[in-house]
Amino acid sequence: MFSKILIANRGEIALRIIRACKELGIKTVAVHSTADANSLHVRFADESICIGPPESVRSYLHIPSIISAAEITGAVAIHPGYGFLSENPSLAEICETCGIKFIGPTPQNIRLMGNKVKARNTMQEAGIPIVPGSPERVETADEAIDIADKIGYPVILKASAGGGGRGMRILKKRDDLRDSFSVVQAEASAAFADPHIYLEKYIEKPRHIEFQIIGDEKGNIIHLGERDCSIQRRHQKLIEESPSPAISAKLRKEIGNCAVKAARFINYRSVGTIEFLLDGNGDYYFIEMNTRIQVEHPVTEMVTGIDLIKEQIRIAAGERLKIKQKDVKIFGHSIECRINAEDPDKFTPSPGKITALNIPGGPGVRVDTAVYSEYTVLPHYDSLIAKLIVHGLDREDAIAKMNRALEEFHVEGIKTTIPFHKKALSHKDFLEGKFCTDFVERLNSKV
Ligand code: ADP
Repeated sequence: MFSKILIANRGEIALRIIRACKELGIKTVAVHSTADANSLHVRFADESICIGPPESVRSYLHIPSIISAAEITGAVAIHPGYGFLSENPSLAEICETCGIKFIGPTPQNIRLMGNKVKARNTMQEAGIPIVPGSPERVETADEAIDIADKIGYPVILKASAGGGGRGMRILKKRDDLRDSFSVVQAEASAAFADPHIYLEKYIEKPRHIEFQIIGDEKGNIIHLGERDCSIQRRHQKLIEESPSPAISAKLRKEIGNCAVKAARFINYRSVGTIEFLLDGNGDYYFIEMNTRIQVEHPVTEMVTGIDLIKEQIRIAAGERLKIKQKDVKIFGHSIECRINAEDPDKFTPSPGKITALNIPGGPGVRVDTAVYSEYTVLPHYDSLIAKLIVHGLDREDAIAKMNRALEEFHVEGIKTTIPFHKKALSHKDFLEGKFCTDFVERLNSKV
């Protein structure tokens, strides 16, 4: 097992990884920007090292500083968490060259799945259903129109290097596609330094269903069931749950096998997520794979009892996956609400000082957070300040627990998404489990 791990991240996920390391008896190194000197991940790690100024590009995204920090402190492995450098194949490659273990998949896997066009083509080769669309990236508006005429409108233009819900545009008709083509190209170029875009059929009223997979370096791969992440704003997740109210045991088995087949096809190892859209007819389509731990991993942990971060570390250390597919049992129901420092109606950022804080607790409640009273939420980073996760005997019980925990959650001094969650959880469609990716839009337009 590793003697010391450097965590190339901040906030709740850095703390989450430190906790897993402590339980495994591994020493930890926190890296931080000057703005994060008083953060909890810095306080709870065994050692810490400042890697630069507040701007991410000069600290958390700056590979030379991170590698130097690992070398100075004698860390033998790096855990990238999510976001920042977690899907950067160069970090994984440089780690290999420096003899530091990157806790994640191979650089080849990251590179392949990070390019959404290549990912689509690879999955098609593997026999996985993909959303109908352009076989390759599209270079001109005319080319896009030709394809859209064949597959039918609406369509969605997507950045090949996109992520985080950005770089996408839905087009209802030919003229919209012609008008928007170069705009989306320019946006992709500006946001991801890659102008390549592709086209997919826009699946109307889908559910976002993703499967957690885990594979070791010996080729053993299993899935740990699904997460339903249909409740999104601007294509970014707000509420996730497991199991999905829309999936039967039969469909779980079918899509789960498909996810394992996909991971096997690319010789995947480590934890990863295969994302699908499920339409009203029960047909499902691959949209992308995330080659890292996800924000919403706790709901899977709650219903399976498996600590995904510890497993990820064990696998990276060369241990064999001990769990077999038949041993994976889904117990009860788990829901996660993302508490963001945002205006709950407009979802605009609301950084600032937390003047008072009460964190919920009690049976079945887990809060993953790195904030505390008097903590200042910084404008430089992601707005996620806490993940409120509950586990109940069934969905109804989980919803009751979440409502109770949301009532107990008090954050003063900044705006948060707590009022949004209270509203969402009392909506009839949520209670009935009958919702799709347009839920938030409908909720805000009071439908
Ligand atoms: P990102 O990598 O930016 O998260 P994804 O490809 O995972 O992008 O898509 C994010 C969300 O955008 C999906 O969960 C879904 O709500 C919406 N979306 C993406 N592709 C389609 C599509 N072809 N049809 C309908 N909705 C889509």
